[in-house]
Amino acid sequence: MAKVSLKHIYKVYDGKVKAVNDFNLEIEDKEFIVFVGPSGCGKSTTLRMVAGLEEISAGELWIGDTLCNHVEPKNRNISMVFQNYALFPNMSVYDNIAFGLRMHKVPKNEIDEKVRAAAEILGITEYLDRKPKALSGGQRQRVALGRAIVREPNVFLFDEPLSNLDAKLRARMRTEITRLHKRLQTTFIYVTHDQIEAMTMGDRIVVMKGGYVQQIDTPQNLFRWPENKFVAGFIGTPQMNFFPATLKRDKGGVTVTTKDFTLTVPASEAYRLDEEYLDGERKVTLGIRPDDIRPVAKAKSGAEIRAEVAFVEELGTQILVYANTDKSRLMEENSETAFCAATAGNPGICAGKEVCFEVNTAKLHFFDEATGQTVKHRIPTVTVKGAVKGGKIKMLGAENALPPALSTKLENGEYEVTLPAEALAFGKSGYAGTVEEVDDLGKGRVLYRVCCGKDRVFLIAEGGRAAGESVFVGVAAEKVTFKQSGEVIVGAIPATFRLGGRYVRFKDGKQKKHCIETDGVRIETPLEFNRKMYDRGRSVFKRNLAFEASADKVKFGGDIPVTVEEALDYGDKKYTRLRLNETTFCIEGEGGTNVMFDFDDVKVYDSDIDMRLF
Ligand code: ADP
Repeated sequence: MAKVSLKHIYKVYDGKVKAVNDFNLEIEDKEFIVFVGPSGCGKSTTLRMVAGLEEISAGELWIGDTLCNHVEPKNRNISMVFQNYALFPNMSVYDNIAFGLRMHKVPKNEIDEKVRAAAEILGITEYLDRKPKALSGGQRQRVALGRAIVREPNVFLFDEPLSNLDAKLRARMRTEITRLHKRLQTTFIYVTHDQIEAMTMGDRIVVMKGGYVQQIDTPQNLFRWPENKFVAGFIGTPQMNFFPATLKRDKGGVTVTTKDFTLTVPASEAYRLDEEYLDGERKVTLGIRPDDIRPVAKAKSGAEIRAEVAFVEELGTQILVYANTDKSRLMEENSETAFCAATAGNPGICAGKEVCFEVNTAKLHFFDEATGQTVKHRIPTVTVKGAVKGGKIKMLGAENALPPALSTKLENGEYEVTLPAEALAFGKSGYAGTVEEVDDLGKGRVLYRVCCGKDRVFLIAEGGRAAGESVFVGVAAEKVTFKQSGEVIVGAIPATFRLGGRYVRFKDGKQKKHCIETDGVRIETPLEFNRKMYDRGRSVFKRNLAFEASADKVKFGGDIPVTVEEALDYGDKKYTRLRLNETTFCIEGEGGTNVMFDFDDVKVYDSDIDMRLF
């Protein structure tokens, strides 16, 4: 049993082909994790790096408390099950399962006990004397599982283990592996290209594409809150329907306009949409799952689409209706007006008929047309109106004094005030409001929608509050952005900053020194940092690098000279804006013209190939 951590893992082939980019994942002990994505997305490469069959180009792999980058595969205490079973054809099932234990010189009676126990779990006891060729594909895969089980590993790895089986057997083995996971209580990492396998087996799923992690989440959250169009289209069958659209804020909510129909996003959902997409012009992709678009006699909600049915698929309990809002393109499967609707039963529907479809407008999805990123967020950053007058701001239905850092910069007038969830917290004072909606995010985090005055804000806190409760919302002013007509007047204080430069070594008298050199300023680096740099190979001296530091880890004192640009008084917290040659950054505290970095915190990137070294 073990936790597995993948920290900023990269795989680069031949110094240029990046098969895996910045893979980050903390796998809990006993968790069932699935890597899913189309062929070539890097899922097997990642699994093979965990197994030790592939060298890790950058990043850290931890299994339990051990850094495993350079640990031999046989010493990682993992078992791997492959697609092609990898059984010895001339050995009996018994010997195949016992093979690994014999290699490890386990006593004979212990081997016998383990082999029989595993065979029992997998229901292959009666085949122990047979050779693999006398077994079906499913039985062979069970033998491969048996061989993995007897080694009692900390982590099981599966590389497309069911791909060679027919559909029926695959479904059965799926439940068997899930049951095995429950029984063995061990960490499972499972690779598949099949989203149904992923959705039915994983506690959490890692969706990958082109070497990049797209989203890591529970099956339910991936389905309900896909972060981009790729995930939205990849997860769920039948696939989500997509339509080109524009969005416009109206009195009652947000109007969605497509070529042949319009819908209204209800006010309760409209808060989740990015404000800058609601101008009626920016192109978005509307996504509707087949289950959220149902053929009806008459839409009660008024949210309806009229379309002509192209054909109908009867699947027993479910009927799929393929339709098109543009009659002239009825037979074009990929036209921008075609869609699929799912229904439990509606016998009147047949090809060639015009039908009314009702849409569940609370469940619509929207993506930026160009980037595919979602513009509808589970945890929204809301923008509200704020009126500044004489050092005070009126927003969220109340008036409060601005801290000096803001009152000196914000002239009287109206502002768009952007409030990310992390800028807000429940407090004893602040803006009075009422909890409207409670959404459990898991792991002790709860998302609250709070109504303050006429505005809604979102904040994350521990649980324990109910809808209808009166609360006060405190605002961390340093995390808020103030804009006028879209132009930033005062921005939030950045949490991190980057210095571009190189890593150099030189002789100072007899002493050898190591530094990061940024815009001609040399900052000496400590031993541990140098060790990590040397671990990445000699080429670190030749490359263009970027060094990223967390602002809250940089302190006054030390020996790095900086120029003070301005003092920022945020009331409870005081910050100073500093300059190190071309780079400015804000740190907490006041005074001093020297700072020190915490080099345990400094992250190093190879700017030439955009790869995090550590
Ligand atoms: P998946 O398992 O998702 O199908 P892989 O992890 O096998 O994908 O491969 C990811 C990418 O890395 C692919 O583009 C593949 O061509 C490339 N790749 C895999 N192995 C090598 C190799 N030995 N040399 C160069 N490129 C490789």
